[in-house]
Amino acid sequence: MANIFCVANQKGGVGKTTTAVNLAASLAGLDQRVLLIDLDPQGNATMGSGIDKSACENTVYEVLVDGVSLRDATMRPPAVGYDVLPANRELAGAEVELVDMENRERILRGAIDEVVDDYDFVLIDCPPALSLLTLNALCAAHGVVIPMQCEYFALEGLSDLVNTIKQVHANLNRDLKVIGLLRVMFDPRITLQQQVSDQLKEHFGDKLFDVVIPRNVRLAEAPSYGLPGVVFDKSSRGAQAYIQFGTEMIERVRALSMN
Ligand code: ATP
Ligand code: MG
Repeated sequence: MANIFCVANQKGGVGKTTTAVNLAASLAGLDQRVLLIDLDPQGNATMGSGIDKSACENTVYEVLVDGVSLRDATMRPPAVGYDVLPANRELAGAEVELVDMENRERILRGAIDEVVDDYDFVLIDCPPALSLLTLNALCAAHGVVIPMQCEYFALEGLSDLVNTIKQVHANLNRDLKVIGLLRVMFDPRITLQQQVSDQLKEHFGDKLFDVVIPRNVRLAEAPSYGLPGVVFDKSSRGAQAYIQFGTEMIERVRALSMN
């Protein structure tokens, strides 16, 4: 059965999609069967995996709202080594349409059920909001990966997210846990980042992933080629860090004996 993880942080632009796409590619490179679900109407994970989001016949929207089977909507982009359930701006409408549905926060979970034995990992890229879409991801997942930049305001939003995760755990999904916090876009030359990183260590202990993702321009360039950084320039520092992250993730999953 697949380990289902979502990459979440309601702050925008903190590296969720970069993390989701590169973790997917890194795990695929370690011979894991991976499905990446794009749950953001921006469709960045879709485009960043080499799929033209405006040309998809079926997307996660049709799966959630029209009951199209997840398997039928899943695509296999040629260069990346993992499957993708794409998204585009249509998905913004799902927020409204899901509201009236029965078990509205569990629709995604129901859809994933069909394929849990086809994959080792299902990764969900969340939108930058604690919305009904994100709630669907939290209800479907075994764990949350939280990417964050080591900046002062990063810590403020974190408590809202952690509280939401606690509430979902208490009321909707007993399986849910924080797998770990991932420091991303890290620049060790900036003293404040070092300080926040130390604070995080103190606060979160081993909930913090050991690997730290550096700020690296190759990771930022890769999406314009429709590729994860890990595939676009495997030898770059950013890609190497994400490859190491994949290894750490597999170790962490084994330690949690979730397999
Ligand atoms: P949103 O909340 O809008 O979905 P996000 O949290 O998914 O954003 P990303 O899209 O992954 O964030 O990253 C935001 C921007 O930062 C992008 O332009 C991305 O290419 C860039 N970026 C992400 N990680 C790194 C990194 N380690 N080094 C350099 N640039 C990065
Ligand atoms: Mg994103």
